[in-house]
Amino acid sequence: MSDRAAQPPKADILVVDDRPNNLRLLSTMLLEQGYQVRKAVDAEMALTAIETAYPDLILLDILMPNMNGYDLCQLLKNREDTRDIPIIFLSALEEPLDKVTAFEVGGADYISKPFQLEEVLARINYQLTIQRQRQELAAKNQHLQQEIYERQQAQEILHQSRALLSSILNCSLDGVAAMEAVRNTKGDIRDFRCLVVNPLAVRVVGREREDLVGKVVFKKLLAPIDAGLFDVFVELVETGKAVKQEVSLQRDDEETWYQFVAVKLGDGFAVTFRDVTEYKQVALSLSQANHELQRLSTMDGLTQVANRRYFDLYFEQTWQQCRKNQKPLALILGDVDYFKRYNDTYGHQSGDRCLQKVARTIEQRLKRPGELVARYGGEEFAILLPNADEYWSLQVAELIRADIQALEIEHQSSDVNEYITISLGIANAIADDETTLETILQMADQAMYQAKNQGRNRSIAFNQNLELLDFDD
Ligand code: GH3
Ligand code: MG
Ligand code: MG
Repeated sequence: MSDRAAQPPKADILVVDDRPNNLRLLSTMLLEQGYQVRKAVDAEMALTAIETAYPDLILLDILMPNMNGYDLCQLLKNREDTRDIPIIFLSALEEPLDKVTAFEVGGADYISKPFQLEEVLARINYQLTIQRQRQELAAKNQHLQQEIYERQQAQEILHQSRALLSSILNCSLDGVAAMEAVRNTKGDIRDFRCLVVNPLAVRVVGREREDLVGKVVFKKLLAPIDAGLFDVFVELVETGKAVKQEVSLQRDDEETWYQFVAVKLGDGFAVTFRDVTEYKQVALSLSQANHELQRLSTMDGLTQVANRRYFDLYFEQTWQQCRKNQKPLALILGDVDYFKRYNDTYGHQSGDRCLQKVARTIEQRLKRPGELVARYGGEEFAILLPNADEYWSLQVAELIRADIQALEIEHQSSDVNEYITISLGIANAIADDETTLETILQMADQAMYQAKNQGRNRSIAFNQNLELLDFDD
């Protein structure tokens, strides 16, 4: 008994028969087998019972008052909600015609009276089993239908998002591509396979789309651009660090610059790139303009040699260098003689031209690396000779003096010569802790003062100890 209680209730069976004896007999038998049983004595009562709850199976007598079993069966089979309830006819009649009618109106089976217990149970069980299987099949079918529907939905969404993605890629003003690493047996990346490429990227590469998608051609494509670029992408995939870089592409005498951004994507990368040639050209001309500006800011406008500002910087820098290397340094100050008178005699413009010639003449004398001439003031020039000893600096000064006189720029109001001349003061310094830029400048100034005093058109040199040096020494 306890076993049966634990099982789920067996099928609910409706027995319809106008003879109470039959009813009682059947229901007792079925109850004993553990079925739930409901009873009806005519069609009307049966319909009421069905309205209350659908039975799992109906045992239906054929001959009944008012509505017979065939008619009731037909009625139930015509109803959407009761169509699937299996109906087994019960009858004492043996005529084959009745069996045919029974099946025609939708009966599932037919049991003749008198009943044999085993037969009735077997037929009921059989019908219930078929019914259960049919229900399971229907449920499975519904599940399958749902799955098919969901799959179709998913496919539609996929299709839409693919279409969206490809229309974005197709109208993108940037080149877009996705690559997948192709590794050798050791696991090292030997190339990349192209997974995705948009039309702009195809155009930049100058190939057909079919030659790229699915092909292992990346290394070959990069080779003419920059052989080192392949390693950049390998490192990106191995480290996951994004790359932003500019590359130039030379084609048909035309250089195009591209800026690309690449990020790791699976065992590969996605790259976008855009033409930055115009921006590059602007940047280039800007830097050229900057250069020119820098040059102008360090140059004297009239004489085209370095200006005072640049000289000060360069003097400082050169002095530090000479100190570090324990090398001597010579500073020469040169001042055009009687230049005020020259202006007065020949006019300011002639004076300007004269200064330009003097500057160029000095410049042409300077041959060693690091030597510099600057316009120090009005008609005064400063000449720096790094690593120059006393003899060399005096020699340079004298050569300059001779060169300028040899220009033979007429100067009739000069007291010293018929041509333009220059007086030069030389300071020879050796790096020590006491010597400063000021002391060197003062030294050169004093030497020049002496050169003027001693009659102009000459070079006078001082060394560190303010000893007067003579060219004849
Ligand atoms: P000294 O022999 O003693 O050097 O006599 P100086 O006349 O050369 O010297 P001074 O310092 O009296 O006069 C320098 C002159 O240089 C005065 C100025 O008119 C002229 N000068 C300075 N800068 C320029 C310039 O850029 N162009 C021209 N044409 N003259 C200049
Ligand atoms: Mg002067
Ligand atoms: Mg002068």
